[in-house]
Amino acid sequence: MVLSAAAEEGWVAGQVGLRLRESPGSGWRGLVDDGGAVRAVASHSWLKLPGEIALACVGAPVVVEVERARAAGLRLLWLATGDGLATPGSLEAWLAVGLDALHVWVHAGTSPAHDFHAGVTGHFMAITAAIEAARGADVGVAVSSLLTRSSAPVLGGLPAWLHGHGVAAWRVAAIETEGQLLRGSGVGPHDGLVPSLAASLPHALQAMARAARLGLPAFLSGAPACLLGPFAGAALREQGRAFAAACAGCPARAGCCGVPADYLERFGGEELCAANLRAGAAVVGPRWMFVGTGSIEQVEMDRARETGAKRQVRLPVVTGDDG
Ligand code: SF4
Repeated sequence: MVLSAAAEEGWVAGQVGLRLRESPGSGWRGLVDDGGAVRAVASHSWLKLPGEIALACVGAPVVVEVERARAAGLRLLWLATGDGLATPGSLEAWLAVGLDALHVWVHAGTSPAHDFHAGVTGHFMAITAAIEAARGADVGVAVSSLLTRSSAPVLGGLPAWLHGHGVAAWRVAAIETEGQLLRGSGVGPHDGLVPSLAASLPHALQAMARAARLGLPAFLSGAPACLLGPFAGAALREQGRAFAAACAGCPARAGCCGVPADYLERFGGEELCAANLRAGAAVVGPRWMFVGTGSIEQVEMDRARETGAKRQVRLPVVTGDDG
């Protein structure tokens, strides 16, 4: 019940005012190749192409579509959103049609830390139950974790938790923005959430090193190769965004995702440097399980999503010690 109210349009990530849209909306379908690239398709109107190995779905299963996917030799991947998991019977319906893999977002390895970032009390328990149910049915599970200013320091606790729950692969997702989140100068409303990559990535890379020691394939999205050090082989394939002047002539430029335009405006391009590129072996694992990283959309900071009413904001009052 708590989940359904707060999951109408996605999750709150990090703090009130930012919302993670978890991949495309309900009813979306995509055909995924073994490199993890996705071709969006309309339900009932697709033709499987060579190299495509999975049908990724958001929303409820459609039996005729599932049968067609099976006949075409495709795996079934359910991208479980906050909405999807909050819908009674949704996981059971997918398990009943023979789901192959489930993708969920987990932002920390403990309930308080995850629920804080999800913005929903009890969400960690619901996610944990979904993962256990999927694993109990021998369904593969992939987990993504958003890289925020506040989640970065707790990422190190996740690999052991994921490994203990039989998760097949993990992805750390740096924030992708479709709209403007950051101000070019001065401190904007989202500076508390969106970190500079140079400050937050070391936490992520340390956590990914722990994952590697546990044998858990760990990937990363939303950050350019020159910031990944020896983890460049963990990057998922993505479209390019904005680049700094120093990116001209970089040997990795053709396949680089760059950074969001407003990120470049806010933090500048000094951290992007081809000289920092390091060779790294490609991480082996089920990249196809990660399609669509979710993106952050801006919502009004002081408006309750459940009712649309303005929140009453109370600032903390610090009393002086002289009275
Ligand atoms: S220098 Fe620019 S093009 Fe090269 S990896 Fe870094 S961000 Fe990408």
